[in-house]
Amino acid sequence: MNIVTRFAPSPTGSLHIGGIRTALFSWAYAKKNKGKFILRIEDTDLERSTPEAVEIIKNGMKWLKLDHDGDIIFQTQRFDRYKELIQALLDQGDAYYCYTSKAELEQLRELQVNQGVKPKYDGRWRPEDNKKLPGIPNNVQPVIRFKTPSNGEIHWKDLVKGEVVIKNEELDDLIIARSDGTPTYNFCVVVDDSDMKVTHVIRGDDHINNTPRQINLLKALGAPIPQYAHLSMILASDGQKLSKRHGAASVMQYRDDGYLPEAVINYLARLGWSHGDNEIFSQEQLIEWFDFDHVSSSAAQFDQEKLEWINSYYIKNKPVGELADLIKHRLLDMGVERLDTDILNNAIKLYQDREKNLNVFAGDILFFFKWSEPSEELKNKYLDEKPQKLIKVFISKIEKINWTNDDINKFMKEFVKEQEIKFPEIAMPLRTIIAGTDNTPSIGSIIFILGIDEVKKRISVILE
Ligand code: GLU
Repeated sequence: MNIVTRFAPSPTGSLHIGGIRTALFSWAYAKKNKGKFILRIEDTDLERSTPEAVEIIKNGMKWLKLDHDGDIIFQTQRFDRYKELIQALLDQGDAYYCYTSKAELEQLRELQVNQGVKPKYDGRWRPEDNKKLPGIPNNVQPVIRFKTPSNGEIHWKDLVKGEVVIKNEELDDLIIARSDGTPTYNFCVVVDDSDMKVTHVIRGDDHINNTPRQINLLKALGAPIPQYAHLSMILASDGQKLSKRHGAASVMQYRDDGYLPEAVINYLARLGWSHGDNEIFSQEQLIEWFDFDHVSSSAAQFDQEKLEWINSYYIKNKPVGELADLIKHRLLDMGVERLDTDILNNAIKLYQDREKNLNVFAGDILFFFKWSEPSEELKNKYLDEKPQKLIKVFISKIEKINWTNDDINKFMKEFVKEQEIKFPEIAMPLRTIIAGTDNTPSIGSIIFILGIDEVKKRISVILE
């Protein structure tokens, strides 16, 4: 069998991480089986769909390297096809016109609620043998309803949820075309899944109620029934439904917040799926290992700390040049005017092991390119008379040594011995002046990277 999966977002807002995880699992499953992964934009809700939201989807998929096969499909370009099949269902007696007005439906609903029964269309326009239908009113534009089988049940073996059984009597006669003739959501999905030969429908479990309806429609169209995998929700770390309130819920926000795409992918893959104890894996490994047996059927909980831990792993292991490209524009945004490539690369190498976020990373190495005087608090803490004197001696000596990283660090150790001080007694004041902070990696290496002229310049501003 040729596996075909699809990601079918509605372009009505931002691309959420739940949506991206759905895309990721669909993508991984198709790749694993050397199948096809389709991107289908479900834009039939003309009022809520926007071109900006389509761009967000495209950018998000591109950023995360979730490449789809073939062109993007837009449902709005397939209206003729939906109409054709609505007509086919009418012709074969599986659909019918319903002239019930909105007011009548409302009345019916009220009545049912008062009687304590579940509100449901009562089938008054549904043609049956020996049934007399009402006279057609002339002021109502009809909708078209699907004639849901009145008995029997729908069951499928969900790849995540297991066996699911729904009785047909619980289902309404679904509207498949509105009174203006436009097809409705469930119908378009079914036609597309069938035309695109989708073998595996992988989507959020908020769609599980649509599945029996869609299966009935597929049967009426004589189409094969795909396999279904309904993925559980992602909850926020507080156990609530994930929403904007929880910060970065939209995918591109993660890029802007300093995360690497490979970290986001790795993190999301582990959210609700596992492969033994493996926490870190590449996209290739995900493709190799992915299966539905290890997708959890209960909700997953977002864990910010873990995302950061995974991000730090990828930062640590990323080639310096690639990190430089990602950090450059962040530094420019922070007001850096001139970026020396050597300094940038060396600073990245020096800091890479301790960073867990690209924005913080840029902030930590900003002082290499844009220096500002240390705070009064730091000055008071580290720069009284004794260290000032020490620094002057330090500078007069370091000027004369061979300018390599090793030699500078060696010199620092000798200096400490010779002056009979502890290392922090010279390192902290130097950090304070040169970096504007008392928390940096090797100050010797920082001095090496900046060069003697720049170091002297900064020291002279502070010590006059
Ligand atoms: N368009 C639907 C959504 O964005 C997905 C439909 C589906 O995957 O079947 O929620």
